[in-house]
Amino acid sequence: RTVYVNGEYLPEDQAKVSIFDRGFLMADGVYEVTSVLDGKLVDFDGHAVRLARSLAELDMPSPVTTEELLEIHRQLVSRNNIEEGLVYLQITRGAPADRDFAFPDPEETPRTIVLFTQNKPGLANSPAAAKGASVISIPDMRWARRDIKTVQLLYPSMGKMMAKAAGADDAWLVEDGAVTEGTSNNAYIVKDGVIITRQLSNDILHGITRAAVLRFANEAQMQIEERAFTVEEAKAADEAFTTSASAFVMPVVSIDGQTLGDGAPGPVALRLREIYLDEMRKVAI
Ligand code: PMP
Repeated sequence: RTVYVNGEYLPEDQAKVSIFDRGFLMADGVYEVTSVLDGKLVDFDGHAVRLARSLAELDMPSPVTTEELLEIHRQLVSRNNIEEGLVYLQITRGAPADRDFAFPDPEETPRTIVLFTQNKPGLANSPAAAKGASVISIPDMRWARRDIKTVQLLYPSMGKMMAKAAGADDAWLVEDGAVTEGTSNNAYIVKDGVIITRQLSNDILHGITRAAVLRFANEAQMQIEERAFTVEEAKAADEAFTTSASAFVMPVVSIDGQTLGDGAPGPVALRLREIYLDEMRKVAI
């Protein structure tokens, strides 16, 4: 695999970053994951806009322009022959001369930028989506700026492990009695034809897939309520699903062992998955 590090395209085993990198020492970095369908980038602009916002919220000047970023994404997709898969991008505050809590002067310490691809043939035609996912609910113990897409992914990783230990596929995070989001996706329920998903705030990541899916749902005259919902409401819902750039629209068929509907992926989730994939393929670049 050819990867990108700080201006260079290199074989992955030759790519190196410093042990003093603040991404490594302090999780002082942000990331994006963009999916690739038909060898093209899905919603590149959405990811570029969110990246700029994450960097600005952390006072981190970008090491690249959006045009350069697009070119790097395209180079990696082409050099690695990716038809279906993902491009992972990470920017950290770089490697100062020594470990220190205070941010280094950005003039003296350039940001570290790393990109790599993940080849995932069959990403769109996923058997997991046809079957639907099971989730458990766990307390949301992350920090309070979940709107910034930082590389602090320890609690989401622990959540996935808790799900695995419980024999489930994923976890939904709960705060003050309401679901915030999934470990790596936004969460939705459907009740009496109404799509319910938490409103945007600092409590959740502003999903790029969420924005597109809600736009398509609106265009298809589906009813949407952006508000917090409880686990009890979710268990009593007709159906549920999650959205993310890497799994698109994923039906959820059980919550804490409670089967939703007939236990099969719901019609709203399946329809939105199809619309999302069709429409995003058309405008992928
Ligand atoms: N919430 C969290 C916590 C996530 O990690 C992700 C995926 N990165 C999402 C939501 C979904 O965001 P997107 O649709 O932009 O992938």
